[in-house]
Amino acid sequence: MATTTFSKKALGVDTPEPAVTPPPANSNNTTSFLKKPKMGSTKSRKRDIPEGLWTKCKKCSTMLYDKDLDENLKVCLQCGFHFTLGARERVHSLVETCSFEEMDAEMTSVDVLQFPAYPKKLADYQTKGAKDAVITGIGRLSHHRVALGVMDFGFLGGSMGSVVGEKLARLIEVGTEKALPVIIISTSGGARMYEGMFSLMQMAKTCAALAYHAKAKLPYISVLTDPTYAGVMASYASVGDLILAEPGAMIGFAGPRVIEATTQSDLPPGFQTAEFLLDHGLIDAIVPRKELKERLAFYLDFMMSGQQRAAATA
Ligand SMILES: [Zn+2]
Repeated sequence: MATTTFSKKALGVDTPEPAVTPPPANSNNTTSFLKKPKMGSTKSRKRDIPEGLWTKCKKCSTMLYDKDLDENLKVCLQCGFHFTLGARERVHSLVETCSFEEMDAEMTSVDVLQFPAYPKKLADYQTKGAKDAVITGIGRLSHHRVALGVMDFGFLGGSMGSVVGEKLARLIEVGTEKALPVIIISTSGGARMYEGMFSLMQMAKTCAALAYHAKAKLPYISVLTDPTYAGVMASYASVGDLILAEPGAMIGFAGPRVIEATTQSDLPPGFQTAEFLLDHGLIDAIVPRKELKERLAFYLDFMMSGQQRAAATA
């Protein structure tokens, strides 16, 4: 014990002033010196924890072993808090192994407006793997073939640019053509400002494709995850035949601070959470991530029964 305090003391003294007093290493002085190095030592011990092994839960502060967290689909094992889940992981969690045929995987955005730094931003994000903020494709969920679109918040905040809109519109059109139910899992900060009006046009395009899909009497299930905001919420995310949400997800059009400032009034507690929106009738059900696949299959059994009967008699 004595040696450690002495070496720490030497470290602390070295930097500010060279030699203040000869080290009597006794009584008062040692105790006052003891405190500082102790603080430092605990901090450095914290820093020693290798990165990428443990994650602290944002809700209950439990330290979670990353491997356990991944196996639990990024849901806190202690309190059930839902962490952000990447699009690729989410696709794997929903479809049967090897059944997913991805569509338009190579489609990338063009810098139409010559927005400064946009091409570099796109290139940086693309080096991480995905080409844009949504993965689309046809896969099998339980015994149903589905047209599945999953957004990725990790790619430019899940912003909806022309690629997101085009990929989703194509997915919905294939769904209509092949008589498949469409499932879109949304997470987004809204339209992609780098693409200006081209982003906003995606709202109309995706909704028009969904209207044709609905006309063919096919179901569309929208799943809202944390966060789903602005242009996405104002278009395809909110027009599902069935709208589901993950527990605690923040969902809305404008952010709460903007609304508070505009309306000059205090917002009710829990405003814009999935639970609040369920109480107020905007969404149909809150489904924990680990139950999502099973629940989707259950809903599709019911929603596709008419289609299957029609196909059988045709
Ligand atoms: Zn937790």
